[in-house]
Order: sequence, then structure tokens, then C-alpha cells
Amino acid sequence: MSESLEEFYTNLLGISGPWEVASIQRDSRSKEVTVIVEYTEKEPYLCPECGRTAKLHDHRKRRWRHLDSCNHKTFIEAEVPRVVCEEHGVKQVPVNWAEKHSRFTHEFERAVLLWLKEDSISTVAENFSLSWDQVDRIMNRAVQRGLRRRKKSTPEHIGIDETAFQKRHEYVTVILDKDTDTVIDILDDRKAKTLNKWFTEQEKSDFSRLESITMDMWDPFINAVKANFENAEKLIAFDRFHVAGHFSKAVNKVRAMEHRELAGASPLARSKYQWLKNSHNIDNRCKRRKEFMNLTRLNLKTARAWRIKEVAAMLWNFKYMAVAEKHWERLLGWISRCRLKPMIAVGKMIRRFLWGILNAIRNKVNNSMLEAKNARIQYIKKIACGFRNRKRFKTAILFHLGGLDLMPSPTK
Ligand SMILES: [Zn+2]
Repeated sequence: MSESLEEFYTNLLGISGPWEVASIQRDSRSKEVTVIVEYTEKEPYLCPECGRTAKLHDHRKRRWRHLDSCNHKTFIEAEVPRVVCEEHGVKQVPVNWAEKHSRFTHEFERAVLLWLKEDSISTVAENFSLSWDQVDRIMNRAVQRGLRRRKKSTPEHIGIDETAFQKRHEYVTVILDKDTDTVIDILDDRKAKTLNKWFTEQEKSDFSRLESITMDMWDPFINAVKANFENAEKLIAFDRFHVAGHFSKAVNKVRAMEHRELAGASPLARSKYQWLKNSHNIDNRCKRRKEFMNLTRLNLKTARAWRIKEVAAMLWNFKYMAVAEKHWERLLGWISRCRLKPMIAVGKMIRRFLWGILNAIRNKVNNSMLEAKNARIQYIKKIACGFRNRKRFKTAILFHLGGLDLMPSPTK
């Protein structure tokens, strides 16, 4: 027995329940197939909100795009009944192949969303012959759906980090659940007021298990946490990668100044990135690295600054806090005597924030996950070719990094 065309599309589209495929129309010129679906149930109609009997009001013709079939753009079309409920007024009867306000079937949206995980909005739009805005709306709806479905979590460790948005110095603050490695939220700027407001909006119980909040040595964030947590000075842990970043910037300043001072005699040409690399991750056998190591043995200010940076990077794994503190104090003493202004400035900063560095060592936390996220966020920025607004940027971060359940599911 061969399948009729109606049966073929019934199975292909998963049409069931009170709906039946009535006919198929094919337009060979536009290469479009339209599957006409009919609602077969008669009275009594039920209100989709409350389930009580309702009167038929009228029908509305609607059309949904589905995945292509047999090389044709494929659509479902139906006269969808609308009912009047005494309590809820006029309501459209739900269809089981699409969401309420969508003009695409579940299957179609799912395919778009899967592709969006790997590609830019414009590439996806091109491949599905959709407009940029249509794809953007599908993505937005998916994020809203995911946020509605998201269960409350009570993380032990969270991270707070700023990330630049667009080329101008505009920032957003990313809040990360480090237990599940997902982005909890994105705030509009990096001000204390904004973060403070966010904390006050969350339920106290969300933080009942909180052990650490990892961040940069950045007063607005510190102040916001202090305003919301009595034990802030135990919770706040400064991130080792941020601390390392401050040292690297200072080393770079020393190098640039010295390079200028030495002018033509400078051995520092083209060595910038070597000084900034983290020695532990480098193969010291390669030729360039050997040359660089020779450079570090010269009597250079840059080499002196670099040694401080390298030692600081090693002071993060201690079993005993007293020992950790002693080593950091020793480093701070060395920095204060080094006569290199940029390094002395970092030393002063570390002196002020040593308590939070020691918390990080005690809790063995860092924002490396957040750094990986940051790299991902930079990637998102790249594939998005510049976000026209902050809201879109936030949506994209949640779409890719929110750990959300994004896919549409058939309504029962
Ligand atoms: Zn009702």
C-alpha cells in the first residue's frame, strides 16, 4: 500500500489530535508547498485558558513556515477557530505544531536555533531565506522561553566580571554561576548602584549556600557586595587572572618606557608578548624562547619588573594561610624597593586588597571559567558583527552561555 500525499504530510508534519491534513497545494513556479490543515472537532469548544466550554466565535486564517520538503518551501495553513469564554473573552484554539505568536513551526524554529548555536544571525538568515529580524525574534523568544523554564539555583561560588560591549568604552557586568558554569545575568553597566540593585532584587535564599564571590579589585563591585552581605570580607575573592593582568600591564609600561629611553640601543624590540606570557605554559626549549630567556638575564628594568610578575603568579597555591600571607608580604616588600613606578602602583593596590587575595587562596577559586566565558563572549561579538544595542548583546550572551533550555516543545 502506498501512502497518499495527505498521509505523507500528516506524518512529516506530525499533525494529530483534532487536526487533519485536508489537501496539499503545490506551486511549481515559486516552489512552495502549502499543507491545508483542518480542525475536525465540533462543539463543544473549550477555552484554552481555563478548559471550560466556550462558544465558537470565528475562524482566522493562519500560515506557518515549516522545514522544506522535497526541495520546496513548505507551509501549513489553517482556519484556526477562535472561541469566546465568559471569563477570558476571545481566544484562539492552540495548534500543536507552533507556539502562540510564532509564524514558524516548532520543527522549523528548532532547526534555526540549532544552527544559531554555531553561526551568526546573518548566515542563518541567509540559509533559511529569512530576514535578520525574523531570526533575531526566534532567538529572542528562545531566550525568554529558556528563562521562564530556568529553575532557581543556590550557587556556592559566583563570579562577577565586566566585559566591554562595542568598541567604545561601554561595559556590561556578567554574573556567573560557577558551580554550573553558566551566565546568571548581565547588567547594563559596571556601577556599584546597578550591582547593588541586582542583589537586592534577588531572594535572600538564593545566596544561602554562597561561599565566594570572585571579582576584580574594583571598588564599585566590592562596595555593592559589602552593602548586601555582612560577611563580605570573607566572601570576596580577587581573581588571580585579574591580579596577573594588573602585573602584566605594569610590566608592559616599564618595557615601553625603557625601550624609549634606550632608543637605538634597546634590545627590547619585538619582545612585548614574550614579557607578558605566563612562563608556566611555555615550552622553554624553542629558539625564540631561549633568546628571550637570555634577555631576562640582562640588567634591564623590564627584566626586574618581569621577575616580580613571575613570582606573583606563583603565590596562589598554599595550604597554610600564614605561609601564604608571609610570601605575599615578602613580595610587597620587594616591590616597594624596586624603584619601578608602575610596579609600585600595583604593589599599593595589592597591599590594599591583600585580604581578598588571601580569601581566593583559601577558597581556591578563580575566574578562569569566567575568562573562558569572556573569550566566548568576544566570539559572540565577532559573529554578531557589532550589536546595535545592549539588549541584543545580552540576549546573545544568554542564548550561548545561559545554559538555558531553548527549544520549543509541542503544546499538549
Ligand atoms: Zn476561559
